[in-house]
Amino acid sequence: MHVISSISEMISTRDKIEGSVGFVPTMGYLHRGHLSLMDAARKQTDTVVASIFVNPTQFGPNEDLDSYPRDFDRDEKLAKDAGVDFLFYPDKQAMYPDGYASYVVPEGPDRHLCGAKRPGHFRGVMTIVLKLFNIVRPTDAYFGQKDIQQARILEQMVSDFHLPVQMHIEPIVREKDGLAMSSRNVYLNPEERKQAVCLSKALFAAKSRFSGGERDAAILIETVQEEISRHSLARTDYIELVDYQKLMPVHTVTSRAVLACAVFFGKTRLIDNIILE
Ligand code: AMP
Repeated sequence: MHVISSISEMISTRDKIEGSVGFVPTMGYLHRGHLSLMDAARKQTDTVVASIFVNPTQFGPNEDLDSYPRDFDRDEKLAKDAGVDFLFYPDKQAMYPDGYASYVVPEGPDRHLCGAKRPGHFRGVMTIVLKLFNIVRPTDAYFGQKDIQQARILEQMVSDFHLPVQMHIEPIVREKDGLAMSSRNVYLNPEERKQAVCLSKALFAAKSRFSGGERDAAILIETVQEEISRHSLARTDYIELVDYQKLMPVHTVTSRAVLACAVFFGKTRLIDNIILE
């Protein structure tokens, strides 16, 4: 595996690659969720490029940009073992030099879920992913269902801008007890970690009601809320049920939909979701 920090070197390296290129953008502090994306890319494409970049423009002023966990040496080993061919690791100054002035903004699909709670977040995400796509020029790109709104907004961007990239959304990788893997899980203290299982437990409870025939969004949301509120350290940020296509709230589930939640444990904000279909 080659580590490439310079943008011009990544561009010239890409120029020489033939065949399909699978790309996995990350913010590092890799876990099995990230590795599952690399694994899918390795199985489905000829060359795998992953990136590690903690993108400052997708963090709000009071969010965890400075404390976001980082461990490049560990990530390098994990990426290599996962079969990554090129690890792109640019620095902030190169990606956003002085005088940087262009952004991509969503129009609509950011109105609910995390978009409503984290103003400007998806502007930062779309901007960095478009920049990375232009540098890496992947044929295929891999994202996790864990961040379903992000994945759907990026699919929309690819479609709207006619980008020649095949998008792949991979299933959520979970800890044994159901907690969705996340770089942010390291922030949790032992008691918070124990209670953090409530997100998946709550969503699975709703999913089983859905499987039993329940289609009323209010009831499914209430099922999630009930389970979360049994946990003393959990503070709900949102629980929403939206249609998969436009990410707009629905009252009754009649087609593919996403039931998603964000829950705070102290300052740590966790997200999870399930797809209802
Ligand atoms: P991040 O480093 O958190 O920006 O995540 C990089 C990519 O990994 C995104 O496409 C995420 O959706 C994906 N990802 C993060 N956690 C998981 C998980 N538990 N299972 C599957 N994919 C994940």
